[in-house]
Amino acid sequence: MDALFAVRARGITKCFGDIVALDGVDLDVTQGQIHGLVGPNGAGKTTLLGLLLGLAVPDGGRLEILGTPVERALAAPDGVAGFVDAPGLYPSLTARQNLAALAALRGLDAGTAGIDDVLGEVGLTDVADDKTRGFSLGMRQRLGLASALLTRPRLLVLDEPSNGLDPAGKRHVHGVLTRLASEGTGVVLSSHRMDDLEALCSEVTILATGRIVFSGPLSKLAAENRELDYRLRTSDPGTARRVAADTPGIRIVDDSGVRQDADVLVVRALTPALDELVAKVVRSDVAVRELAPVVSPLEAAFLALTEQQEAGR
Ligand code: ATP
Repeated sequence: MDALFAVRARGITKCFGDIVALDGVDLDVTQGQIHGLVGPNGAGKTTLLGLLLGLAVPDGGRLEILGTPVERALAAPDGVAGFVDAPGLYPSLTARQNLAALAALRGLDAGTAGIDDVLGEVGLTDVADDKTRGFSLGMRQRLGLASALLTRPRLLVLDEPSNGLDPAGKRHVHGVLTRLASEGTGVVLSSHRMDDLEALCSEVTILATGRIVFSGPLSKLAAENRELDYRLRTSDPGTARRVAADTPGIRIVDDSGVRQDADVLVVRALTPALDELVAKVVRSDVAVRELAPVVSPLEAAFLALTEQQEAGR
C-alpha cells in the first residue's frame, strides 16, 4: 500500500453503451491535496467522481483508493465520503435530524456535539432545526458536506460543491476543505468556477470528451507562455490607447466580448510587452487604476486546450 496516494488511477475507461465517458484516464491525488476536475459539459467529470465514490466500477484500467484496489462497486470505499449530483436528504426532517439519521445509517456515533460541530463548520447552525424541505441548493450542498464530515473522510469527493453558494456559504465550504486538506485528507472536486479552483486547488486535471488534456500544478499552467487579454483602466484612456498602439507586442482588442467601459482598454499581450506598456503609460503621466486578466490563466488555458482538442478531432 502506498499511503501517500488518496487516489491512483491508471488507464481508466468507462462506457455507457456506445458512449465512451472515460478513455484511458490517469489520476494521482496525494493525501492533503485539493485536486480540481475541470472540463466542458459531458467531459466525464461526474463519471470519474462516481468511480471514486464506488457508485460504479471502471470497465478497464486500475483504480486504487487510499491504497486499496477497487474491484467492485457497492458503497463508498472505507474512508471515502462525498456525493455527486445532489446530496440525498430527507425533506421532512430538520438539518440536525438528517445528520443524526445519516450517522445512524452509517453506524457512526456522532453524538449531539459532533453534529453541532459539523453544522457550525458549514455555517448552518442558525437553520439546524429547520426542515430541509425549504432548503436552497446552497444550503443542501452545505448540509451534504456536513454529512460527509461526520465520517472523518480521508478522501472527500465533491461534484460542483460551490453550486448555489452565496459568498458566506462559499467561505465556509472553502474553509472546511482547506482545513481537511491541511489535516491530510485528499479532496477531489469538480467545478466550472475557475476562480474557485484557483483559490482552492494545488493541482487540476482538465478533461475533454473523456480524455485528459492537462494534469498538474496550477503553476505549470500559469507559467505557459501564452498571450492573455488584460483590462487596463487608466485616468486617460485616449493616451493609453495611443501608447498601446505604439508598443510592440501589444494588440488592442476591441471586440473581446467584455463589457467595455469608457476608461477601460482591453489589450492582448505576453507579460514582457505588458510590462513595457504599463511603464510607458505611467511615463506619459497617465495613472494606471486597474490591470487584470479578462479571464484567469486557468480559464484561458482551459479554453485553449479544449479548443485545440476539438479542432484535432
Ligand atoms: P457536466 O459538466 O455536464 O456535469 P460531466 O463532465 O460531469 O458533465 P459526465 O456526466 O461524466 O460528464 O458524462 C460523460 C458522458 O457520459 C456524457 O456523454 C454523458 O451523456 C454520458 N453518461 C454519463 N452517465 C451516463 C449514464 N448513466 N448513462 C448513459 N450515458 C451516461
